[in-house]
This record gives sequence, structure tokens and C-alpha cells, in this order.
Amino acid sequence: MKYISTRSGAPALEFEDVLLAGLARDGGLYVPESWPQFSADDIRALRGLSYAELAVKVMLPFLGGSIPEDDFRQMVEDSYAGFDHPAVAPLKELAPNQWVCELFHGPTLAFKDYPLQLVGRLFDYVLKKRGARVTIVGATSGDTGSAAIEACRDRDSIEIFILHPKGRVSDVQRRQMTTVLSGNVHNIALDGTFDDCQDMVKNLFADEAFRDAHHLSAVNSINWSRIMAQIVYYFWTAVELGAPDRKFIYAVPTGNFGNVYAGYAAKQMGLPIEKFIVGSNENDILTRFLATGTMSMEPVVPTLSPSMDIQISSNFERLLFDYYDRDGKAVAQALEEFRSNQSVDFGQGRWQAISEIFEGYRVNNSETKAAINELYQATGELLDPHSIIGVKAGQMGHSDPDSIMVALATAHPAKFPAAVEEASGVHPELPAHLADLFEREERLDEMPNALDQIQDYITNKLEMRKSA
Ligand SMILES: *Cc1c(COP(=O)(O)O)cnc(C)c1O
Repeated sequence: MKYISTRSGAPALEFEDVLLAGLARDGGLYVPESWPQFSADDIRALRGLSYAELAVKVMLPFLGGSIPEDDFRQMVEDSYAGFDHPAVAPLKELAPNQWVCELFHGPTLAFKDYPLQLVGRLFDYVLKKRGARVTIVGATSGDTGSAAIEACRDRDSIEIFILHPKGRVSDVQRRQMTTVLSGNVHNIALDGTFDDCQDMVKNLFADEAFRDAHHLSAVNSINWSRIMAQIVYYFWTAVELGAPDRKFIYAVPTGNFGNVYAGYAAKQMGLPIEKFIVGSNENDILTRFLATGTMSMEPVVPTLSPSMDIQISSNFERLLFDYYDRDGKAVAQALEEFRSNQSVDFGQGRWQAISEIFEGYRVNNSETKAAINELYQATGELLDPHSIIGVKAGQMGHSDPDSIMVALATAHPAKFPAAVEEASGVHPELPAHLADLFEREERLDEMPNALDQIQDYITNKLEMRKSA
């Protein structure tokens, strides 16, 4: 199995090199050269497996033999052993043929744990084999940082630096990062906004001497291995609910398009999925595109679902690549037009083809709160402001009563207690393993928004760690 860039200007790589590279050198994203195929019988054979057993079967073809199956199985089992639900990704029935899959039973209570727990282990495994080390640097507006820290803590070949905007993440989110006291974890509270944090990380990577000296790397959602690990729960839920003998509609609360793209990959691999319902908040660039055929940028507005407050969905490029018949030059050109005009039209034919399997619905703040309360009153299921957007959009788009609608719940309600309580009158409790979060010791360093000072900070920390 080889991986190729969505801009067709970088060499094809094997799985391990794609894992460590993240972004391709031509600025594109890596995708598999072809989709592994699962026949109806292959899908039937997945019935009765545990989440981890099924995960190994679904992901193995993507490794192209680069990691021995037994080693991979061990990593997958370790990744999900600590999740606090025996099913790992439990399904709850909301109404006839309407289900929600709870993807918030990992260590940091967001679906990002499902891919990142495995990606952290894969990094460590490959780096140890190569006798190499990396410094992971990332910016977070909340969920990604804690999931990445949990995935990388105490791993010998990784140092991780996470920048968050000082005073602009919730107390729960900050404490999930800063109470991890492992020596290889470094939290920076930057005096600035999330955009400042992201620019800082870009600038660190842009300084080639610095990047090479410290072997900088990233685990953001452009990394192929994250998508790969997200394909698993589409297979898991569909098989649990009767695939290949039933048809499915998936509703996904969407930001960077990584999660729903993984569903598209599962469909390409043979899973009987009729369509995807993309849920967005007021930052509705994808919903507007699906409705009009034009993708046009608007300023980001803060909402109750901050992990979806995004203008450019980076993983959409992976989908475009297929709809441009895998012509990376044409993809690069279309994206260039988008960057310079803040607006682009991919052509009538492509828009229609994409609209055949993707449908978008926007759910604003007041609809979000009303829907949280409505679902809780009707079913007892208490969802966070991101997850409810998936459910609500799914209900709006569930037009074929014979198909099963599965909405993906992406965060635990206790991650967003204020909004959930305001909507429903219920205060969502943190699970037992985080019950003492507010008593734990925090460690973080406040830093000004200045590149040279951040570089000195990182260099000094790495020196200290080497001599420790
Ligand atoms: C990251 C995130 C999303 C958006 O997922 P994408 O893969 O970026 O589309 C939705 N909900 C929550 C809670 C998240 O953390």
C-alpha cells in the first residue's frame, strides 16, 4: 500500500513515512493509492468481534505489511483497553432506526481519543524501531490538545509542546492538559488568541533550521493515520446494526471534515452507506457549499460548539481529490483560486456528484440548546452542543425510513457543562476517572506571543530533558 499526495507533487510513500510526515512536501495531504475492498462476506465476518478485534481487521490493509500483525494487534488492544465503556463505542437507540454512537468514552472525553490513542503508540513504535525521536508541537482551542497530550504522555521517543490561548479555553479543557505532569509534556499558555497559537506553530515549522534541529512533527487531523483509525467506528456501528444487510445514513457534526471523510473512506471500502449528513453550527461554509455549489469564506464566529468554529475544512481537499479524478494539479489550482478569491466553484458536475452523497444542515445556538433539552426529555440521552448538532441534522436529513441513521456523538456533555446545564437544567457530572480534576496540581508556563521566546523555551526544555 502506497500513499499519494492530493497535489500530485510529492513522492509516494509507505505507511510509516506517511505517519511521521503528516503533510506532504507539496502542501497536499496523503491518501491511499487505492481503497482496500470489503465484500459483503468480509463484512459479515466482522460480526461478533470486539471493537479492538474489528479495528485490527479494518486497518490492517492500510499498513501494507509494514508492521507485523501481532505488534499492531497489541497496540490496538492497549489503545482501547483504558476506555471506560466495555463496548468502547456504545450505540444508543433514540427512535426507530435512529441511533447515536457515543464516541466520548476515552481518557479526554472527545472522539479525538479514538484515533489519537493509537497514533501516539504508532509514533512511538516506529520511532523506536528507527532509533529516532520527535518533538510534537501543536496549537489547540480545547479538545485536540488534551487528546494529543494523553496519547503522547510518558512515551520515550516523544516530547510534546501544546500551545493554548491563555484564558480562552474552558477550565475543564485547560485542566485536562495542565494536570498531566509527565516529564515529556509541556503546556504553554500563550498570551493571544487561538489564531495566534496556530500562527506560532506554523512559524515554528517554517523555520527550517529550528524544525530540523528538533525534529518537529505534528499529530493534527491532516495526518492520514488519524483518518484510518476513524474508519473503524463506521464499520463497528454498521456491523452492530446489521451491515451488510441494511443501509445506513451517518450524521456527523463537522469542523475540519476529518471525521466525515473517514466515513466516506468506509463507503469506498464497501460499507453500505447511502449518504452523509454534515452538521454545522453558524460557521456553515460546508452547508452553504452543499446548498449552492459555491464555497465562500466568512469570518469565524464563536458558538456553543467551539471545536466546529472553523472556516477552512482542511480534509475536504481529500474528497476533492477523488472528485477531480485524482488530478492533484487541478486540486491545487482550485484551492489556489479559493485562497486568492475567498470563494470557489468546483463546477456543476462535481457539485451535483458530491451532493448525491453529502447533505448539509446548519443548527444555530438557540436550536442547539432547544435540541439538547428536547432529546433529553424524550429519551434521557444528555448530549453536548457538538453531538446534538449531529443528531439534529440527522433527524432533518433522515428521509429514507428503511435506512438506519447513526449520529456520531463527539464529546461528553461534562466537557461543556455550562451550555448543557443552561439547555437542560441538568449538571453533567465528570466520569469517575476525572472526578478529582479540579483538585489536581496544574503545570503550565505563560508565554508572550513572541517567536524567539517560544523557540528559546522549547530549546531549553529539550536540553533539560536530555540531561535529566
Ligand atoms: C474536533 C471535533 C469536531 C470536528 O471534527 P472534524 O473531524 O474536525 O470534522 C466535532 N466535535 C468535537 C467535540 C470535536 O472535538
